[in-house]
Amino acid sequence: MEVLSLECVSSQFAICPGLFQPSAANDGLLSRLRVPGGLLTVTQCEAIADLADQLGGGYVEVTNRANVQIRGLQSTIDADHLARLQAVGLASPVAAIDALRNIMCSPTAGIDRQQLLDTRPFVAAWNRYLTTRPDFAVLSPKFSVCFDGGEAVSVRDRPNDISLVAVAITDAIYFRLHLSLGDRGASPCDTGVVIQPEESLQLLIAMTEVYRDYTMQKLGNSSQRKPRLRNLLHDWGLATYLQAVVQRLSFLPLRDGTKSLRQNEKIDGNSFSDAYNHLGIHSQRQSDRSYIGCILPLGRLETIQLRGLATLASQYGSSMLRLTPWQNVLLSDLPTAQIAVVQQKIEQLGLHSSATHPHGAIVACSGTTGCQSSATNTQADALALAAHLEQTIVLSYPVNIHFSGCEKSCAQHHASDIALLGVAQEGEASYHVYVGDDGSKFGRSLYQNYRPAHLPALIEQMLRVYQEQSQSHETFKSFVNRYKIAELKQMLIASDRHLIGARQQN
Ligand code: SF4
Repeated sequence: MEVLSLECVSSQFAICPGLFQPSAANDGLLSRLRVPGGLLTVTQCEAIADLADQLGGGYVEVTNRANVQIRGLQSTIDADHLARLQAVGLASPVAAIDALRNIMCSPTAGIDRQQLLDTRPFVAAWNRYLTTRPDFAVLSPKFSVCFDGGEAVSVRDRPNDISLVAVAITDAIYFRLHLSLGDRGASPCDTGVVIQPEESLQLLIAMTEVYRDYTMQKLGNSSQRKPRLRNLLHDWGLATYLQAVVQRLSFLPLRDGTKSLRQNEKIDGNSFSDAYNHLGIHSQRQSDRSYIGCILPLGRLETIQLRGLATLASQYGSSMLRLTPWQNVLLSDLPTAQIAVVQQKIEQLGLHSSATHPHGAIVACSGTTGCQSSATNTQADALALAAHLEQTIVLSYPVNIHFSGCEKSCAQHHASDIALLGVAQEGEASYHVYVGDDGSKFGRSLYQNYRPAHLPALIEQMLRVYQEQSQSHETFKSFVNRYKIAELKQMLIASDRHLIGARQQN
């Protein structure tokens, strides 16, 4: 293992933060820790909580790649803390590659009743290998790999450069190769390439080496930016890339035109999204064991809560927390007979676990407290909305509401049910309000320049109209997509009059 010194830490601040290279934010420095597969041991939780208490703001954030980030650092992390993080396996032994994106898998890998295979050993193997290859540091820090084991809590639609998706074909389990071929934030596409699971490490090495050579060639040609894998695919085309990869393999991947049932499932959010199915209590594939999915409001966890969850994991579970790419956390391997006790203790930590709790599906980027590009205080506005909805409405299904401080949309790349885009209008912060989906980045424009203080009442109104007028089991997105924007506005006005009338009668 490389012995750390402060010289390992870059004196320059990174745009994509890692542990060794923090980025500068409005509230101090921001360091991000890779947590492969989102799996955190109790010992790792303690090291993170100590670091956040001693050098950071006393809380951590779970990101949409199931990383942990620590905000509010007033200086770069000192050598003692870095050495401790390395000792518990939270910092790469090779500082140069620590900024590469987290390796993703389903947060229910190994415990999911529907899974085809347990992807955790594949995550561990790829992470172990990656940390031995300092030459991969030349890659874009956004280079990302995902393993989907066919779990009910699926991650195959998460934006990743490479996804290996488990499928069953004639009684055997394979990985199908999915690649990011579309726009930024789009789900990876099925390439039709199929491999045996035990061939996955060799395939990933070959794919990464070809991408590394392309990157070095581009940088040698004085390209300013490190290319993404999707740039290579656009330049060369999929067939040429795969040819170059196959030349480095000792086996021939299969080409499979058939698609399994799960492959044919549409991932468009029109059926009730599985994304929040991990919240609440669920049985595991192991008999007499259950897991609880806990909501972290905007991914935030106070260190006292982190320590509390770690204690529960030690006392009742398998001394492990599972972070999710939806910025929540699972407590797994709990004896089913004791699940009510654990749930009560989670509530005592101030955390909820119902999928329909307003906090469950509200997402916000760091906003003005953390980002200079933000027009609005997205975090404060999102918390105010969640508090308002908690008091005023009971949701039957999760409704995904996304606050973004600018067009970049860091917190969520896929379409939401309701998107709120921060804008500065003549020096005043406001939001453009979008609903549903029309193929554009944020959805269909409903209102422009809506004042933050008026948003909670508007969103409550929208949810009431949806609950009163939607068809059975219709998603919010499908409901709003059925109507023209003028019709939706008319429904909101009529509902508002009805509410005012009811209030006057009272
Ligand atoms: S979406 Fe914009 S405002 Fe929000 S964190 Fe990203 S760059 Fe900053």
